[in-house]
Amino acid sequence: MKPLLDYHVHPGYSIDAENHSILEYCLQALNMGLKEICFTPHLEVDPVRRQVDWFVRLNGKLHPMDDLSWLDQYFLDIEQARSQLDNRELKIKAGLEVGYERGCERTIEKIIKNYPFDYVLGSIHCLEHQSISSWKESRLYFSSHNAEEACREYFQALKEAVQSNLFDCIGHLDLYRRHGERLLGTVLESVHEGIIEPILKEIAQRNMGLEVNTSSLRRGLTEFHPSREILLKARACGVKVFTVGSDAHRLSELGASIDQAVLMLEKLGLAVHTFTCRQPCPF
Ligand SMILES: [Zn+2]
Ligand SMILES: [Zn+2]
Repeated sequence: MKPLLDYHVHPGYSIDAENHSILEYCLQALNMGLKEICFTPHLEVDPVRRQVDWFVRLNGKLHPMDDLSWLDQYFLDIEQARSQLDNRELKIKAGLEVGYERGCERTIEKIIKNYPFDYVLGSIHCLEHQSISSWKESRLYFSSHNAEEACREYFQALKEAVQSNLFDCIGHLDLYRRHGERLLGTVLESVHEGIIEPILKEIAQRNMGLEVNTSSLRRGLTEFHPSREILLKARACGVKVFTVGSDAHRLSELGASIDQAVLMLEKLGLAVHTFTCRQPCPF
């Protein structure tokens, strides 16, 4: 089975990604036989992390993320790729991955309302302004928080992200496992018990989506984000919308393990979705 779509791709705008253009990714997608690709450059909004996170790569140079001219260029790139390539062979979607930060809802809202996004993915990347997606910062964070504390904080932030009503879908729901499992052990596999259910119910009520993110497999974990166990809970809580994304930060990661993720969702009876103008549709 070949991967058919990828809903989490970081083009060269993201400074933690290799510098490949929208068109390069689209050509790679066509080569691989993908039917649909959705780009999700990072948008980070936490003022405390301004000096760390608030940059994009524009024309090969660092560019301040809050100077939104990069988004104008991003949409131009998307339009150009769409007109250059055959839409029947590859659908190209303009998404965004927002690192949710409490108190920054208005900033996020203004940006996403001003551009014609197809898909806005909300992710929790930081706890107490420390990035749990980076190994270096995770080590600091987990050295002063046990599993219960970390999870309480993570799920509080997640609940607020869901209730902010800003996002179409939640990215890599149990991201705290990425480095946390190595630092705190397998306790993190079950620490969501009892906390996650009301949040999943709220996701279902709002008809939001959950992403199955395959980057975990490239980082030595044996399950996707979120784990099968959390996906089962999501199903029980009534979540109906699921997307699949590789979280590619380089061309070689495009579509990685997507076939496995789709197969797993199929086995669980859960439907893979795409988004157009922020509306979900079964793939
Ligand atoms: Zn992310
Ligand atoms: Zn990402």
